[in-house]
Amino acid sequence: MNRFSANPTPASIELPPTQLMINGQWVDAANGKTFDTYDPFTGGVIAQVAEASAEDVDRACRAARRAFEAPTWRKLAAADRGQMLYRLAELVEKNKDSLAALESLNSGKIISDAYGDIDLVINCFRYYAGWADKIEGATIPMRGDYLAYTLRQPVGVVGQIIPWNFPLLMLAWKWGPALAAGNTIVMKPAEQTPLTALRMVELAHEAGFPSGVINLLNGFGETTGDAIVGHPEIDKIAFTGHVETAKIIQKRAADTLKRVTFELGGKSPLVVFGDADVEAAVEGAFAANYWHAGQCCSAGTRVFVQDSLREEFVEKLARKASSRRLGNPLDPATEQGPQISQEQLDKVLGYIEQGKGSGARLVTGGRRVGGQGYFIEPAIFDGVKDDMTIAREEIFGPVASVLSFDDESTVMARANDTRFGLAAAVYTRDLSRAHRFAERINAGFVWLNCYFVLDANLPFGGFKQSGFGRDNGQAALEHYTELKTVVVSKDLGA
Ligand code: ADP
Repeated sequence: MNRFSANPTPASIELPPTQLMINGQWVDAANGKTFDTYDPFTGGVIAQVAEASAEDVDRACRAARRAFEAPTWRKLAAADRGQMLYRLAELVEKNKDSLAALESLNSGKIISDAYGDIDLVINCFRYYAGWADKIEGATIPMRGDYLAYTLRQPVGVVGQIIPWNFPLLMLAWKWGPALAAGNTIVMKPAEQTPLTALRMVELAHEAGFPSGVINLLNGFGETTGDAIVGHPEIDKIAFTGHVETAKIIQKRAADTLKRVTFELGGKSPLVVFGDADVEAAVEGAFAANYWHAGQCCSAGTRVFVQDSLREEFVEKLARKASSRRLGNPLDPATEQGPQISQEQLDKVLGYIEQGKGSGARLVTGGRRVGGQGYFIEPAIFDGVKDDMTIAREEIFGPVASVLSFDDESTVMARANDTRFGLAAAVYTRDLSRAHRFAERINAGFVWLNCYFVLDANLPFGGFKQSGFGRDNGQAALEHYTELKTVVVSKDLGA
């Protein structure tokens, strides 16, 4: 039985300005519109946030273009851009407590996870701060009397659209490489989680980023997001979110042939062989399915367990899942917070019903907890078959599906039988098998005997319909730069 913790009541948490940030100024939406933002723990309204119209998007995009062309940014030494990113990292560190509380309040993320995300945010800014003056071109040997070299230059104005599950971390993954490379930004956070991005803009200005370099517009996808994607001043869109949204964005971006990079969903396989360290595998599968109440694009939700280990594995996983403490995300004793919204709650509960109806065995969990907030007990389905909906679609909730297998050759093909390809994991003591798996699995990120080990220097992104392009690492810088080739004649008729 999952315990529920309702205490303590949220301390008074300082809210950031809630207007739009355009060209270094806090402004209301041109039409004066606002929308409510909620606390997913209570379902109550936290604040009203300005909602950007197409007119505001136009102003922000033009401001970002002017800032891109202005000498204060364009002529700034790369090393100085790096210094600003370092300062931003320092400021995030200094404001860790208030940022973590605000993130937890608005996203329902448990407070310890909010701190964990912020550590990754700090790493990310420091990592890209170091890159700013190391984005190099090449010299290319030529036939004849020529010198040829390449320059890596910023793409220009980038539109960045991010989801609600990791509001601060997704912001950092997008800002870090974009700013290191010298781009300017128009960002739209998710409508569910607008608050921490507003605070981050304040910190960015304190860190020294000039007006107009970072513009922040809250609003909804079909309006604000769509206007950003369609705007002619935007040179590139970086998007993290749902596969179906990415398809709409790609079509819309085609009109102006914008560069697009997508980090989308998944239905990642986690394969546990009979020779695995069972405790480590249970630990890994638990994190893979229940971190942030299962609201992670790289969740390992297809858990393939070799027959010889399955019973023991499922029993251990169920014991852990059923003792998980749900409740107030701001209470340090809480282990799982609410789903983000009523809509997500309904969607996840719908999948659980489908799982039950399809003949899979619900081992534990799967019920809504309490009448307030959007809590779901961590669920495990056993006896799941490859073609069941719960094994094919991204649920985005605390629902693990256990599938059985008997040998390596069949499980590899089954693990790859999905339209997604974001992440994968294998637990085995057989080193050759682990590397065979890493080579053959169609996924952008593979963990061997671990899960969710992430950092700013590790490229992250998907194969197949999980997206294209990479966040993090040197790879992300390639997507935020254009490559220019210069050929110089050395023969000036002398
Ligand atoms: P989720 O299901 O996680 O909310 P979405 O893909 O709907 O995933 O949302 C991710 C981000 O994309 C959010 O900031 C959302 O507002 C934005 N978004 C949704 N629809 C569109 C669209 N048509 N154009 C641009 N952005 C969109």
